[in-house]
Amino acid sequence: MPNDTDAEGVIRALDKVGVDFSIAKSALIDFLGNAEFTPYPAMSGALLNLLNSRGLKRPVFIDVIVFNYEHSPGEPSPRRVEDVDIGILQAAVLEGFNERYAQQESAFSGLLKPLDVPQPPVPPVQTLAMTAEGTVSVQGGVTLVDTDNPRVEVTAKLITVNSEAAHAMVPQELHRENNGWRFTNGDVRLSVANGEADAGLRPVRAGSLSDDALAWPTVDGTFSGATGAEVRLQSRIRVGYRPVDVKLLVEGPKGFAANSAAQGRIALDPEVLLVPVEVARFFSDAIPVSNISMTGQMALWDQVPIINETTNFRSIDGGTGELRLAERKWDVWPVPDVHGLYTHLGWESPDSIWGRAKVRFRLVNYIDVKTDNVHAAPVAGDGTDDRRLRENNDALSAHPQHISDKRVVKVIFMHRIAPPEAEQVGQALIGNGCVGIAAGASNGADIAHEIGHLITGSQTHTDPQKQPDNVMNHPGPGTTITDEQVGQAREWAKNFADFWAH
Ligand SMILES: [Zn+2]
Repeated sequence: MPNDTDAEGVIRALDKVGVDFSIAKSALIDFLGNAEFTPYPAMSGALLNLLNSRGLKRPVFIDVIVFNYEHSPGEPSPRRVEDVDIGILQAAVLEGFNERYAQQESAFSGLLKPLDVPQPPVPPVQTLAMTAEGTVSVQGGVTLVDTDNPRVEVTAKLITVNSEAAHAMVPQELHRENNGWRFTNGDVRLSVANGEADAGLRPVRAGSLSDDALAWPTVDGTFSGATGAEVRLQSRIRVGYRPVDVKLLVEGPKGFAANSAAQGRIALDPEVLLVPVEVARFFSDAIPVSNISMTGQMALWDQVPIINETTNFRSIDGGTGELRLAERKWDVWPVPDVHGLYTHLGWESPDSIWGRAKVRFRLVNYIDVKTDNVHAAPVAGDGTDDRRLRENNDALSAHPQHISDKRVVKVIFMHRIAPPEAEQVGQALIGNGCVGIAAGASNGADIAHEIGHLITGSQTHTDPQKQPDNVMNHPGPGTTITDEQVGQAREWAKNFADFWAH
């Protein structure tokens, strides 16, 4: 039974959607507190459901609405919200409105406030479920995922929208071919809000990132609002332990269209241990190590898609300022292979392999370090094979952009990490929390393998006879890990928990 404070709250909520009263307020408070003998609690709940998204343009008395409702055929007097007949309720509001303002509105929809943006005169479109890659559970309305870089999918129903330029209703149209797509008479994106920082071109230290992520069809084809086509859209976001609010926004020529509906909250499952990674590229003028770049590393570690600004544009009508179309093409859209592994630049992403232990890596820093030739590609006769890598590790640790206040995994790319005859494509400096990787010999699971040496705290390898395809085999690291390695990885990854505590 609601008390007076609850009733006051209901009265305020009703007022916001354009429902007021002409009886004494004390009587209304009594009625709202009495669900057993009056229809007021049920009808106020139904009115709020009906009007929450769009209120009445001029207020109507609730006591008049209740009176009209109770005097409709059959004299219904509902006691529960679900017993309120929406058609009768709308008719009761319409009657109350016309009576109070001496109007002859014929339809309930004519009583509603105009929206801020032009809306097509179509029935409301259905909201279709949003799904996220790696979903493990839904708790308290938050979808928990086991990857910090989920692909998010949502279905939108295309509609027709008003175009000033065309003086007509025009269909939203989507066309996808391979990595390119075009949205005519609109655009669509996934809005990600309430993250700890904004997603940008550079990696950042935050876990959950707010973003305006591009969304595009999951399959090739042409989809048109002329036929009310439903199209499955996909996008990619970066999440941490703090939930982000994710919403599909569909634009018309001006402002958002009525099919901007689907939304959800997504966070990284707290069971997943996120490990921060700092990548440094050591290069010289003569040895540019040009296959290593910030965008490429974001794609490798975090499956961040790559789009070139020259293949990403929106065309605006000069006369009306309306959006005509958006046309785009991905340079890289990360897709798992048949084994479920993400690969970029020839390397399998460490997430793909250590993710089985619920350990994921996040690129939080990227540094280009210009050096001399021998530190980009060591030569023979300069001391031990790993001398230059160790010197680079020292230089990185002293670099002003290096993250020094918290523990991170350092990943150093050089053209090669040791003299040519040493044939080393990767090396872990276990005590330094650093791995060196030969950028000139990118190969499969090498990065995950070297990180495995940091995890096990040992330079020993697994036996391919006993563990075919294990990531710690040498030569030829595979892509699987044992239950023992799962335990080791989780113990090790706990050392980085502090990084995400703000
Ligand atoms: Zn090894």
